[in-house]
Amino acid sequence: MNQIWTFLSITLIISGLTSLLLAIRSWLMRSRPGQAAFAGLMLAVGTFSIFSGFELIAPTTGEKTFWLILENLGIVWLGPFWFLFVIGYTQRKWIGSHWTSLLLVIPTITILFFISGLWRDLYYTSLTLLAQGNGPLMVGRGAWFWVQSIYAYVMMFCGSVLLIRSTQHMPGTYRRQVSILLAGILLPWVANAYYLLTPILFPAYRPLLDPTPFAFTLSGLAYSVGIFGFRLFDLMPIAQTAVFESIPEMVVVLDGQDRIVEINATGRKWLRLKEGEAIGQPARSVFSPWPELLKRYIHMREVREEIRIPGGGGDLPEMAELVIMPLKDARGRYVGRLIMERDITARKKIDDQLRLQSAALNAAANAIVITDTSGICIWVNSAFTKITGYGSDEILGQRLSILKSGLQDDTFYRSLWESILSGKTWSGEIINKHKQGHLYIEEMTIAPVRDPDGRISNFIAVKQDITERKRIEGNLQDAHQRLKLHVQEIEALQSQLREQAMRDALTGLFNRRFLEETLEREVARAIREKSDLCLAMIDVDHFKEFNDQYGHKAGDIVLQSLGRMLLNTTRAGDVACRYGGEEFVVVMPGASLEAARKRAEEWRAEFQAVNPTLPEYIIAATISIGLACFPKHGSDSDTLVDAADKALYQAKDRGRNRVVIFGQD
Ligand code: GH3
Ligand code: MG
Ligand code: MG
Repeated sequence: MNQIWTFLSITLIISGLTSLLLAIRSWLMRSRPGQAAFAGLMLAVGTFSIFSGFELIAPTTGEKTFWLILENLGIVWLGPFWFLFVIGYTQRKWIGSHWTSLLLVIPTITILFFISGLWRDLYYTSLTLLAQGNGPLMVGRGAWFWVQSIYAYVMMFCGSVLLIRSTQHMPGTYRRQVSILLAGILLPWVANAYYLLTPILFPAYRPLLDPTPFAFTLSGLAYSVGIFGFRLFDLMPIAQTAVFESIPEMVVVLDGQDRIVEINATGRKWLRLKEGEAIGQPARSVFSPWPELLKRYIHMREVREEIRIPGGGGDLPEMAELVIMPLKDARGRYVGRLIMERDITARKKIDDQLRLQSAALNAAANAIVITDTSGICIWVNSAFTKITGYGSDEILGQRLSILKSGLQDDTFYRSLWESILSGKTWSGEIINKHKQGHLYIEEMTIAPVRDPDGRISNFIAVKQDITERKRIEGNLQDAHQRLKLHVQEIEALQSQLREQAMRDALTGLFNRRFLEETLEREVARAIREKSDLCLAMIDVDHFKEFNDQYGHKAGDIVLQSLGRMLLNTTRAGDVACRYGGEEFVVVMPGASLEAARKRAEEWRAEFQAVNPTLPEYIIAATISIGLACFPKHGSDSDTLVDAADKALYQAKDRGRNRVVIFGQD
């Protein structure tokens, strides 16, 4: 019999050590949910098993009692640690550490009883040996024993129920984990119940040995297999409530009678509800802040719509996507509804902006094309169709080179591509071919568009048909050229007119008006420079008779030949004029009276000699000349002309064909 006890004792100690190893392993992973509590549970199990082993082989009642008390240092924690483990493992919301410490009150009191010695009255009322030597102690149970045991059972029960309930929403992997965990706790529980309840229910039959620590040996085995075989705890379940709560959309579950079954944190925030306030309430009252939505959707079972949230703005969304879905049970019967609302305010604002921008681009008078980096069109506006003739359905997916006229060479396109691929904006004129085949001139600007990484992702080209503008520009240039020619003609005419205005048409000499201007200027200069100035007035003799005899035309020829002679013989600075009719005046600035007389004499003689310019006539035309000089005969133009005229008159008077100086005989 002794050997059996020894064997059982060793089994208990080994299993206890295994539990301690599991405790260490769990403690090392204590950051995972529930692992710290599981380490505590395994430490308690280990303590229980190892000291049970020592108790079995202890020789005396005293020593057995000592080990029994140490066993209880583990036993008392089993219930609360199991419960705390389940809370952590299933990630239920726990109210906080002060509630956790409340769980430890009863075990702490039990331990105080053991320390103080009160246990002999309250916990174990009697301790007897089954037999001398190895073997268990038979114990009598006091009041506090039952308090502690019931408390442990309640904790075990609550923990197990929570664990079972949480498996309902868990995927298969976690269910196997939970099965192992439950098996590991149920076995010792049943064993303990058997040990405690049998003597009460069947007083005749009393178990000799507490099988609980042996059941814990099997539990340790189960947990070892679970942890090392099925990777128990490697994958931790994430509580569905946590997921549900943290969804950033409003999620509400209604039952068949439109009562709120669940509403998550986002939903509570949007509807300004406190936690738990809405559960079980009719949807009509919970959604009462949104009366219009309530009216429209309260009876709808299936909806997917964008809605405006009444009173939105601030921390509440203005726009939301509403989804309502019917919920069905396993047999397909309607059991309620799932309502979800997703905040789409920001997206809507971007959508609106994009729609506006796209409308603006479409309304632009310039053609706008967006291409990818290889020049394939991905978007065109309506002006593009107007300018090129290609509808967006025809051009999308095509290369812009479809518009090439062939009038630009490859170098042109190469430099264009080089420029835009290097990230620069290209601008220029380009001759393109309309879909109908005619050519048109386009002014185009192409700008590269970069993606958030800074790589060129697209090109935007803005085009304008400038054919008409070019034509008008061309016309303008022609008109300008013509105008320039006209101006030149007018200028030539003007100078001709100016010339004509101071020249005499018949002889080509200066006219009387020019003489008057010039003479005044020359007299002023002579006064300034104190120089001489002589004036000769010339008149053809008996010209009236000449005209009468030979005709007016012959008279004109004589006048022209006199003019030619004067032009040929006057010097630079001299001014020869036709003064009127057949009278001529020559102004000779700087000429002395004597020099003037000499030259006048030469003219007279030459005219007389050269006269036969009309071969068919024998002409004997002569001229008379009157001379006046500045300053001797006058100090202004009028006096000088008058003096020369008087001298001429004297020349006529004295017989004509002669030169007379004013005031000389
Ligand atoms: P005198 O010797 O006194 O000067 O006699 P005259 O006949 O020349 O008289 P006067 O000088 O008064 O005559 C002017 C004449 O000159 C009148 C007109 O017939 C003539 N005459 C004036 N202008 C022209 C002209 O442009 N062409 C021609 N052929 N004759 C003209
Ligand atoms: Mg005359
Ligand atoms: Mg005359």
